[in-house]
Amino acid sequence: MFKINVKPKKHWTGTFREWLDDIFSENPEKYSRSAHKYLYDALYYFGADNEKNIPNKIYSEIFGVDEQVKEFLNILKAASEGHDVRRRILLFVGPVGTAKSTLVYILKRVLEEYSLTEDGALYAIKDCPLHETPLHLIPNELRKEFTDYFGVEIEGNLCPVCQYRLENDYENDIEKVPVERIFLSEQKRIGIATFVPGDYNSQDVSVLLGSENLKTVTETGDFAHPLSWNFNGSIFTSNRGLHEFVEIHKAKPDLLYPLLVVAQEREAKVDRFGMISVDEVLIAHTNYSEYQKFVAKKENEAFKDRTREIEWKYNLSLNSEVEIYKKMLKTSKSKTHIAPWTLEMIAGISILSRLEEDRSKGKDKASNYSLLDVLKMYNGDFSGKFTEKDFEEAKNDFDGRSGISPRIAVDAISFAMSKHECVSPYDAVSELVDLLGKMNSEIKKEKIEKLIELYQPEYHKWVKSVVFEAFIGSTFRKEANAYFDKYVEHAFASLNNEKVKDPFTGKYVDFDERFLRAIEEVVGIKQEQARDFRTKLLLKISILQKENKPFDYSINPKIKEAIEKKVMEDKANFIRGTITSYVKSEEQTKATKDAIDYLVNNYNFCEKCAQDAINFVAYLLDHNL
Ligand SMILES: [Zn+2]
Ligand SMILES: [Zn+2]
Repeated sequence: MFKINVKPKKHWTGTFREWLDDIFSENPEKYSRSAHKYLYDALYYFGADNEKNIPNKIYSEIFGVDEQVKEFLNILKAASEGHDVRRRILLFVGPVGTAKSTLVYILKRVLEEYSLTEDGALYAIKDCPLHETPLHLIPNELRKEFTDYFGVEIEGNLCPVCQYRLENDYENDIEKVPVERIFLSEQKRIGIATFVPGDYNSQDVSVLLGSENLKTVTETGDFAHPLSWNFNGSIFTSNRGLHEFVEIHKAKPDLLYPLLVVAQEREAKVDRFGMISVDEVLIAHTNYSEYQKFVAKKENEAFKDRTREIEWKYNLSLNSEVEIYKKMLKTSKSKTHIAPWTLEMIAGISILSRLEEDRSKGKDKASNYSLLDVLKMYNGDFSGKFTEKDFEEAKNDFDGRSGISPRIAVDAISFAMSKHECVSPYDAVSELVDLLGKMNSEIKKEKIEKLIELYQPEYHKWVKSVVFEAFIGSTFRKEANAYFDKYVEHAFASLNNEKVKDPFTGKYVDFDERFLRAIEEVVGIKQEQARDFRTKLLLKISILQKENKPFDYSINPKIKEAIEKKVMEDKANFIRGTITSYVKSEEQTKATKDAIDYLVNNYNFCEKCAQDAINFVAYLLDHNL
């Protein structure tokens, strides 16, 4: 039987007196946390990555933006310690599809989950539309005493509704006011709210601050009566938790104003009731270019002063990008195989699209690094050529501010998956080109084609090397050593001006200087250096022989490299012959079959894409690519 193992929510209701004695006094600090502190604790409640100290809930979902996440956590920490940054709107600036929206989504879910735990237990005055803290019941004249007694400070005052009820329903006796445990929930509008500006002309401040409750107005007969107002604006419903503002640059100035007051004063102003205390984390987001336009307007200057910006950029690390795709594709139920290097190909092109094309833009010095170099450095691959200093020089502030989002990249892969039984790198690329075209993206066809052109040699290099490896397999060493033996024999003869025995006729013939030079030239040994090179090699061999030590073609790095290249070259002809011929010999058929098996077993190909990869390499060889 399927066990339904849902823990029931631990509800609690009681009077303020009971709450104070039974709950609050047990841990005054815990029950007087600010919204910032509560969020910070919530994040770390579920554990953190040891090395980077990033909460697991974030670390397991978001990749490639550690810097921004850390900056966010530092700000949140400072705010939770009461520093002035808690009077700022946290503004995430960055292109669509960066992790900024994902982070806010995670924060909301973490708040919901944490509020169900014992550590995250949160209490409020029962039926308060702001679910405000019961501590607001303590009147100002008692607060100093309260702080001396419990060691915690109280911030904020009772909302008009609770104030009214206290006077009218509880005869001003705060001890009688009912308190309950609350559970944060975006769906139920408790402590979590999202503001989406929508159409400019229909934006109304009531979304933030609420509006008249016409039904109760007729009962109270008074617009200024606390019960005549619906405190259902998002600023109130998100009290104690988090308020998200999507595309803040689209908001009208009259909506921004109350928001700035909330940030600065931690109070919301509803004309007829004066200032109402709120405590919430304010996070807004916008994209880079819209935001530049937005803050350039005079009326929005105050906004800039009241925000703390974090610039989110697209991920620029290739490895992280591939991880992001894997993560995003994990939810797909498709059984379609994805050929090796498909994600890498799309990731490479996407990251190239995020790099500023004009590498000198905004810099005093022109940059000599190619886009491909920059891509590799961002991935921590310095290829033995570059240093950290090069990387510092190569970076550009504009990198990561625009380009192909991970969402579009993954959509392209998904669309390809729905059309093919196995998706190859080029299937995905062609979907990506189509998709960008259909979306009327800023990235024009010519640009994307240029990027493909730029990145595909990386794939060609890789696919050639694995296909060659698959064909050569175990026979490689054998053939390399056969070359080596021949080289040693002829080199010896050349130094002593002797003849060598022809293995076929048994006759003594001249040594093959052309063969020796062919090997040596592969690794750049010049004619005048040849004699010296051969002498040293043979000396080393004779020492090893005297000591009875084994040796093979890897005895010297230059000879090893030369011979490996030579074997590859020879094999290239065989492989070329095998994979490009329409009618295959028995040997060729078997070699192809073995190569497919090798690719399937070692590189995560399926039989189809292994065969496709071999055909593709044949094509590359045919076209000398
Ligand atoms: Zn209240
Ligand atoms: Zn496949």
